[in-house]
Amino acid sequence: SSAPSPIPATLFPGDGIGPEIAEAVKQVFQAAEVPIEWEEHYVGDRIDPRTQSFLTWESLESVRRNKVGLKGPMATPIGKGHRSLNLTLRKELNLYANVRPCYSLPGYKTRYDDVDLITIRENTEGEYSGLEHQVVRGVVESIKIITRQASLRVAEYAFHYAKTHGRERVSAIHKANIMQKTDGLFLKCCREVAEKYPEITYEEVVIDNCCMMLVKNPALFDVLVMPNLYGDIISDLCAGLIGGLGLTPSCNIGEGGIALAEAVHGSAPDIAGKNLANPTALLLSAVTMLRHLELNHKADRIQNAILTTIAEGKYRTADLGGSSSTTDFTKAICGHL
Ligand code: NAD
Repeated sequence: SSAPSPIPATLFPGDGIGPEIAEAVKQVFQAAEVPIEWEEHYVGDRIDPRTQSFLTWESLESVRRNKVGLKGPMATPIGKGHRSLNLTLRKELNLYANVRPCYSLPGYKTRYDDVDLITIRENTEGEYSGLEHQVVRGVVESIKIITRQASLRVAEYAFHYAKTHGRERVSAIHKANIMQKTDGLFLKCCREVAEKYPEITYEEVVIDNCCMMLVKNPALFDVLVMPNLYGDIISDLCAGLIGGLGLTPSCNIGEGGIALAEAVHGSAPDIAGKNLANPTALLLSAVTMLRHLELNHKADRIQNAILTTIAEGKYRTADLGGSSSTTDFTKAICGHL
């Protein structure tokens, strides 16, 4: 029998440490014999008038066509007259949910060893609608927009995710006691969706209480779904619980089933080109991409090889207290495959 044809996926190596950690992903995928064929796209050096950004139209088309992709960090170029790269991706691909799995890495000691939660952030509206203005001197206004459509869409994604990933509980995070209309509508939409998933326990937690509970005992949570600003803050809080930027993956979900995985961290200009970066966050992001494609067997194998390498402690990058280079750490992971 012939081998199944490879699945095309878009790869943006990105800026700074991006190409180094993207290379690590390519090598690990090769060692694990993952049936993915990368279509590489780079950030351009001039503005593409069709996207008003340094990202070309062709690169966006590649994601639309493949429906899956992996993105390295992109440094925001300075200057006027163009859209930020991340904003362009979010708007053009309608990336409405940002999903961040957050679990304790066995073998890398932090304050907690039982974190296993998922934050799901609404990514298109809320306080990030970009509607700010001055009313009169000394008074400014920022408009928070919550729509039924976007709230239902992210709630639906959260419950579907819970159901398909063996999760038991969804917590909606809010401040509806103060933001009665906006967060009130968000909660109403979550409740409506919850009714369709009787097998999933649904609860509502006020954001301030949620922060206290997360810091005291993160094991209290399973899947958390929330509006944009709360998601921005809570997901970073959760990253801090398990060891920081070098380790935390994420995946952006867009209209029509698009999944664009990315590390949470930036381009790390201070260590770029020095073979020092920790590729774990991008590798684990690539693992979320494989799970999205239901290549769970490959995802498990790669995840185990990463965790085993970190737990053994012989090869660790500097951010985890070791002295290994990116390439040696990557080789060690490939060795475990
Ligand atoms: P950063 O995440 O790049 O760096 C913060 C610190 O964490 C630095 O000390 C860096 O060395 C370290 N670090 C980050 N990732 C690491 C890794 N994988 N291994 C080891 N150490 C790592 O944040 P920044 O310095 O604020 O941003 C730099 C650039 O990245 C900016 O242009 C910013 O706009 C961009 N950025 C892009 C994204 C994205 O593409 N999603 C996200 C954040 C920042």
